[in-house]
Amino acid sequence: MDNALLSRDRTVFLDGEWVNGRGKPIRSVDPSTGSALTELNGARAEDVSLAAAAASRAFGSWRRLPAAKRATYLRGFAAGLLARKETLVALQMLNNGKPRIEAEIDIDDAVATFEYYAGLAETLDARQDGIIELADPTLSGRTRFEPVGPVALIVPWNFPLVTTAWKLAPALAAGCTAVLKPSEFTTPAELVYGDIALEIGLPAGVLSILPGAGDVGAAMTTEARFRKISFTGSNATGRRVMAAAAERSLPVSLELGGKSPIVIMEDADVAQAIEIAALGIFFNAGQMCSATSRLIVADKIADDVIAGLRRHVAGMVVAGHEDSAAEMGPLTTAAQRDKVLEYLLRARHDGLDCLAGGASTGREGGFFVEPSIYTDVPTDHPIWREEIFGPVLAIRRAASEDEALTLANDSDFGLAATVVGGERADDLANRIDAGHVWVNSPQIIFPNTAWGGFKASGIGRELGPWGLAAYSGVKHVTSRVGA
Ligand code: NDP
Repeated sequence: MDNALLSRDRTVFLDGEWVNGRGKPIRSVDPSTGSALTELNGARAEDVSLAAAAASRAFGSWRRLPAAKRATYLRGFAAGLLARKETLVALQMLNNGKPRIEAEIDIDDAVATFEYYAGLAETLDARQDGIIELADPTLSGRTRFEPVGPVALIVPWNFPLVTTAWKLAPALAAGCTAVLKPSEFTTPAELVYGDIALEIGLPAGVLSILPGAGDVGAAMTTEARFRKISFTGSNATGRRVMAAAAERSLPVSLELGGKSPIVIMEDADVAQAIEIAALGIFFNAGQMCSATSRLIVADKIADDVIAGLRRHVAGMVVAGHEDSAAEMGPLTTAAQRDKVLEYLLRARHDGLDCLAGGASTGREGGFFVEPSIYTDVPTDHPIWREEIFGPVLAIRRAASEDEALTLANDSDFGLAATVVGGERADDLANRIDAGHVWVNSPQIIFPNTAWGGFKASGIGRELGPWGLAAYSGVKHVTSRVGA
């Protein structure tokens, strides 16, 4: 483990240099043991103003760079992450409790995202000034894509580096400058973006990083120089971000919660369905906005699927980073563990049918919770309706495809969904209210696909060309021909 990532003197990346943090201490914990990893000095809310001023100063020249030149910096971020892959994998395991394979997927995802947006940036100049035919032949029109300005990026702790890449790469590609506030729980990994920025000679002010807690995030939402806020996290905080932005009529992108369904149709391959269902709720210990936490299974195969899931869970290795066989780690924070345990207590109190788990693992120290499954969960129960953000699966049986669809769509959220089934699976996928649907596939997210939700799951889309569009404004120019 490269201790340099855990023991920095200077923790605030401001206007192209590392400076001392003068705000509250940011404590990082190893969730596998509960022991302290490091304490770093956070930024102050006042630093938001300094970082925003730097982002404003840098914006003019950054936006005017050829987009292909900006692409070279994005490729630099990809290369910088790749060069540190082993260190970052170790850090994700240590600070997030991720099993190795999951930590590796995270770094690969962040690298692929920077590479993808570098490629998109390389095509951006050629797409500028597209001609629009106008009804008046003495006039001609053209379309340009302009960066929205300096942007505030606020990210959570469940996929550090990754959610940041999903915002930072398209923002920089579009020509925006950015100020990033990582989660206070997973700061050390995110600070690596500052190291790479220095290494690749990113112009000062194009990226600043302010480690801090909610007070720093809140200060970002009221800072006048930002022209957009992009936020990923809980609906409760997302509402606060949106309310602050509304005061200034500021655009927001919000990637919020989910209570995503997985529908297993009667002609599904049962073994495949069990594997996909387990990954959909136990990957990252269920701390995924896209976790398929509501399983709706066709009556005809329900007994087989439920029995298979029980066997699967019984064989799962739940362990910390010290165990190379770990399939599921601890929850990332003590608060998250407590929140999940409250739901499990409620389930016990309400007499839900618990097929597996239902408690903490009993292991001393770490933030472990058993992979938990409840069957025949009432549709008005919090276990069925609310985002738990933990390894808790709620199951219901459906007598028909229509009933399965009704159950799937009966949610305030609409982020993601999975369908496992035969030839009608794609048709069912088309009828589910979700921004991203997997059919007979585990939850793989490619950087060129849209990410974001319907209903209360958020506003806007990340990734793909839509991710770039989130940081660009469309400008139309009408000119007199020959003038
Ligand atoms: P939050 O939504 O509170 O945090 C997300 C980010 O917003 C963090 O960087 C946080 O800072 C920051 N923040 C906190 N308060 C404000 C504010 N007033 N204005 C602007 N930014 C702010 O998530 P939590 O970490 O507190 O987790 C709470 C719950 O949210 C979890 O139990 C889970 O259910 C859900 N969640 C959902 C996620 C998703 O992707 N859908 C991701 C993470 C959590 P800091 O954390 O440093 O205080």
